[in-house]
Amino acid sequence: MTSYYNDQTILYLNGSYVKANEAKVDLYSQSIHYGYAVFEGIRSYRTANDRTRIFKAEEHFQRLKKSSEALNIPYPYEAEELISVSYELLKQNKLQNAYIRPLVYSPANMGFTRNTESFLTIQVWEMGNFLGDQLLKVMTSSFERPNPRAFKMEAKAAGHYVNSIMASQDAKAKGYDEALLNDVNGFVAEAPGANMFFEKNGKLYTPPLGNILPGITRATVLEICRELEIPVEEKFFKTAELYEAETAFFCGTAAEVIGWASLDGIPFRKDWNTTVGKIIQEAYKARITEKEFKPALAF
Ligand code: PMP
Repeated sequence: MTSYYNDQTILYLNGSYVKANEAKVDLYSQSIHYGYAVFEGIRSYRTANDRTRIFKAEEHFQRLKKSSEALNIPYPYEAEELISVSYELLKQNKLQNAYIRPLVYSPANMGFTRNTESFLTIQVWEMGNFLGDQLLKVMTSSFERPNPRAFKMEAKAAGHYVNSIMASQDAKAKGYDEALLNDVNGFVAEAPGANMFFEKNGKLYTPPLGNILPGITRATVLEICRELEIPVEEKFFKTAELYEAETAFFCGTAAEVIGWASLDGIPFRKDWNTTVGKIIQEAYKARITEKEFKPALAF
């Protein structure tokens, strides 16, 4: 098992900084029983000039607020306040390259009723820069993303991740690195924990918002495309179109930008190092560490 904390680790719990191994959670919580909670996945990086910077902190805490509101979970916080808490946690735990996990959870309630209060923990742990050159073997999953008329798919809700876990476990059991899930209409949606883009004739394509998590990395990729004048289009497409792609990549806070080797055992023809995806990967890497970026490759 991965260890996320040790005897020294400090986490934030409802207004206090406490030792992780002394923190308590109510086992009667509605969140534990029904997955009724919202969370974020954020990263901090040691920058080129040796500062510790939380990447897109404001965007992540705004999404946490939206996720809480979408699920009727009380959210009496300001982004600014939680960003300071996050920096304080990084300091207390002496971390620079870290993963930051805020979780808003619910009190004891075995009913399905709305609560007047909620709780907040923020946890941090070391996470190295694992943006590798290891390309992924991706499998189209038989699991679909949840029906957006059954769930608020734009929210990062704990319960949605049962679907992610099932799909990812299934892909790994079949010898693949990661799953790719379709939406309820049979269009390509996203990975269990990342968004995706594909590349054809120097242009990028990504599924539109609606049935996917509005990824902050996805938005960053779109931002990079605008700045570098890389053509990009948001549209619905099916797996068959992906088989004809030159390459594809996942993007997410944890995954960063990571290329695919193959889809359903069919390798992509173009060498990753010659793709627009590779340029995006390099640009993203520069952005998270606040380094200036000049594309070395022509496109
Ligand atoms: N889709 C899902 C289902 C996710 O869990 C994540 C990770 N938060 C993403 C997409 C990517 O989102 P982000 O870039 O904001 O991390």
